[in-house]
Amino acid sequence: MEIDVERQQQAREYARTRRRISYISMGIGVLSILIVLGAGLDKWFRDVIQGATSWLPFLSWQPRADWFPWQIVVYCVLITVLYEVLTSPLSYYSGFVLPRRYGISVMSLPAWLRELGIGLGLNLLLEAVFVSLVYALLSFQPQLWWLWVALIILFFSVLMANLAPILIFPIFYKFTPLPDGELTQRLLKLAEQAHTRVRGVFSMKMSNKTTATNAALMGLGNTRRIVVGDTMTDRYTIDEIEVVLAHELGHHVHRDIWKLIASQTVLMLVGLFFANLILHWVIDQQHYYRSLTDPATLPFFFTLLGIFSFIIMPLSNGYSRVIEYQADEYALTSTGKIEAFKSAMRRLANQNLAEVEPAPIIEFLFHSHPSIQKRLQHADEFASRSGYTANASLSAES
Ligand SMILES: [Zn+2]
Repeated sequence: MEIDVERQQQAREYARTRRRISYISMGIGVLSILIVLGAGLDKWFRDVIQGATSWLPFLSWQPRADWFPWQIVVYCVLITVLYEVLTSPLSYYSGFVLPRRYGISVMSLPAWLRELGIGLGLNLLLEAVFVSLVYALLSFQPQLWWLWVALIILFFSVLMANLAPILIFPIFYKFTPLPDGELTQRLLKLAEQAHTRVRGVFSMKMSNKTTATNAALMGLGNTRRIVVGDTMTDRYTIDEIEVVLAHELGHHVHRDIWKLIASQTVLMLVGLFFANLILHWVIDQQHYYRSLTDPATLPFFFTLLGIFSFIIMPLSNGYSRVIEYQADEYALTSTGKIEAFKSAMRRLANQNLAEVEPAPIIEFLFHSHPSIQKRLQHADEFASRSGYTANASLSAES
């Protein structure tokens, strides 16, 4: 399997267009925030919601003097929906039109809309719960709320990592255990060599949505599993899939899900600590809002979160690339199948329309995995380091 030159041309175009769209949607976000904060729409909107209490009396429910549970939820839901409506032409173009034009998506419009709806609904629900918790803590623990929020996020991440494979992902994909054949046997053997136990290998039905493929390690504890797209099992050689499974097993052996949760909690803690300082300054010194728990602070709070996630994006992507590099190293070491690894990488690039060599700055900022070019180089370095030759691994493959 070689890199398809024509597909690479398309991959560059596709990536460039998608980047432009994300810049535009970021621009819309920044502009909206400037208008909202600049024109004082954040306070105006709070007044509208508070004014609505004459016909929606529950909005004024207040368990404490500075705690407005329903106003916070309504405020948060409405501005989120408004933002989604505002950016819906872009979501439609980048989520539906573009992937179909490039032959990546095979979804019908109703199916796509249905998934989008479910995704937005779930997102809105989680966001409302999160924001409600934050504002309750701002009322009860105005100095230490950020510490509590970080702890709750930690607890919630562990819970979600545990439950997502059985509660969330099955909403979108159908999972079936990989039939007990040669692949499963090979994986079990690899796991045995690593003195570790894999709880299950599942095939994920992706072919009804996409021509692209993926594999992943999901879950924690009882729900821990390796998942492979059916768009991989139907067209890769058994050696190639074995190497991919070995990569996922590497994540398992290295306890990468725990590492990611831990690193994200630390970053979150730092971000929330600064958010606390800034919020207190804006309210206690500048008296821009009535109190820490004023519903009008929501757009500003979201802005702080947005700026923060923009700043940490290269950090968490950088850490993710390190973890991915180590999982590749594990796959190469445990299988020794260098040629199978390389052909799987090239197949991935062709199939997923992935840029083999993105610009270094793009990779640094946005990519959670090392570029295919780097992963191929890694395999070559591994080969020369460990004394394998292309021929030796080829004959080992057959
Ligand atoms: Zn990986």
